[in-house]
Amino acid sequence: MSRVIFREERCKGCLLCALVCPVDMLEQSQRSNSQGYRVVQVKDQDMSPCKGCAFCALICPDEAIIVYRSKKDDALTELMEAEHV
Ligand code: SF4
Ligand code: SF4
Repeated sequence: MSRVIFREERCKGCLLCALVCPVDMLEQSQRSNSQGYRVVQVKDQDMSPCKGCAFCALICPDEAIIVYRSKKDDALTELMEAEHV
Protein backbone atom coordinates (compact mmCIF):
# COMPACT_ATOMS: atom_id res chain seq x y z
CA MET A 1 0.00 0.00 0.00
CA SER A 2 1.27 3.46 -0.79
CA ARG A 3 1.53 6.07 1.87
CA VAL A 4 1.43 9.85 1.94
CA ILE A 5 3.02 11.95 4.64
CA PHE A 6 2.24 15.63 5.14
CA ARG A 7 4.62 18.13 6.63
CA GLU A 8 1.86 20.13 8.20
CA GLU A 9 4.01 23.10 9.14
CA ARG A 10 4.68 23.71 5.43
CA CYS A 11 1.07 23.37 4.31
CA LYS A 12 -0.81 26.52 3.27
CA GLY A 13 -4.14 24.75 2.86
CA CYS A 14 -4.41 25.58 -0.84
CA LEU A 15 -5.87 22.13 -1.63
CA LEU A 16 -4.11 21.83 -4.98
CA CYS A 17 -3.13 18.34 -3.87
CA ALA A 18 -6.78 17.42 -3.30
CA LEU A 19 -7.71 18.76 -6.73
CA VAL A 20 -5.24 16.57 -8.60
CA CYS A 21 -5.64 13.38 -6.58
CA PRO A 22 -7.21 10.85 -8.99
CA VAL A 23 -8.94 8.97 -6.19
CA ASP A 24 -10.22 12.04 -4.31
CA MET A 25 -8.81 10.95 -0.99
CA LEU A 26 -7.56 14.30 0.36
CA GLU A 27 -9.50 17.03 2.13
CA GLN A 28 -9.05 20.06 4.34
CA SER A 29 -8.92 19.21 8.02
CA GLN A 30 -10.14 21.20 11.01
CA ARG A 31 -6.58 21.50 12.29
CA SER A 32 -4.49 24.64 11.86
CA ASN A 33 -0.72 24.75 11.84
CA SER A 34 1.33 27.37 13.67
CA GLN A 35 0.93 29.74 10.72
CA GLY A 36 -2.84 29.54 11.00
CA TYR A 37 -3.44 27.51 7.84
CA ARG A 38 -5.94 24.69 7.94
CA VAL A 39 -3.93 21.72 6.80
CA VAL A 40 -4.87 18.93 4.43
CA GLN A 41 -5.57 15.37 5.57
CA VAL A 42 -6.48 11.93 4.22
CA LYS A 43 -10.23 11.36 4.21
CA ASP A 44 -11.31 9.02 7.01
CA GLN A 45 -7.59 8.35 7.57
CA ASP A 46 -7.98 5.67 4.90
CA MET A 47 -4.77 5.33 2.89
CA SER A 48 -5.94 2.27 0.97
CA PRO A 49 -7.17 4.13 -2.18
CA CYS A 50 -3.74 5.73 -2.73
CA LYS A 51 -2.13 4.76 -6.03
CA GLY A 52 1.27 6.19 -5.20
CA CYS A 53 1.11 8.41 -8.27
CA ALA A 54 2.72 11.34 -6.40
CA PHE A 55 0.63 13.90 -8.29
CA CYS A 56 -0.11 15.52 -4.93
CA ALA A 57 3.57 15.89 -4.08
CA LEU A 58 4.45 17.17 -7.53
CA ILE A 59 1.87 19.94 -7.50
CA CYS A 60 2.35 21.07 -3.91
CA PRO A 61 3.96 24.52 -4.09
CA ASP A 62 5.24 24.23 -0.53
CA GLU A 63 6.93 20.84 -0.76
CA ALA A 64 4.77 19.62 2.07
CA ILE A 65 4.10 16.07 0.84
CA ILE A 66 6.16 12.89 0.76
CA VAL A 67 4.82 9.83 -1.08
CA TYR A 68 6.02 6.31 -0.39
CA ARG A 69 5.14 3.42 -2.65
CA SER A 70 5.36 -0.15 -1.41
CA LYS A 71 7.08 -2.95 -3.27
CA LYS A 72 5.78 -6.50 -3.43
CA ASP A 73 7.70 -7.39 -0.29
CA ASP A 74 5.94 -4.53 1.49
CA ALA A 75 9.17 -2.71 2.07
CA LEU A 76 8.37 0.96 1.73
CA THR A 77 10.38 2.70 -0.92
CA GLU A 78 10.63 6.40 -1.11
CA LEU A 79 9.11 7.59 -4.36
CA MET A 80 9.44 11.29 -3.85
CA GLU A 81 10.69 13.48 -1.12
CA ALA A 82 9.93 17.08 -1.86
CA GLU A 83 12.26 18.54 0.69
CA HIS A 84 15.09 20.75 -0.46
CA VAL A 85 16.75 22.08 2.65
S1 SF4 B 1 -0.09 9.73 -4.33
FE1 SF4 B 1 -1.71 9.99 -5.90
S2 SF4 B 1 -3.42 8.74 -5.17
FE2 SF4 B 1 -2.04 9.00 -3.42
S3 SF4 B 1 -2.84 10.81 -2.30
FE3 SF4 B 1 -1.28 11.56 -3.76
S4 SF4 B 1 -2.41 12.11 -5.62
FE4 SF4 B 1 -3.77 10.80 -4.37
S1 SF4 C 1 -0.83 21.37 -2.13
FE1 SF4 C 1 0.63 21.44 -0.41
S2 SF4 C 1 0.23 23.41 0.58
FE2 SF4 C 1 -1.53 22.96 -0.72
S3 SF4 C 1 -3.00 21.93 0.68
FE3 SF4 C 1 -1.78 20.33 -0.36
S4 SF4 C 1 -0.09 19.90 1.09
FE4 SF4 C 1 -0.99 21.88 1.68
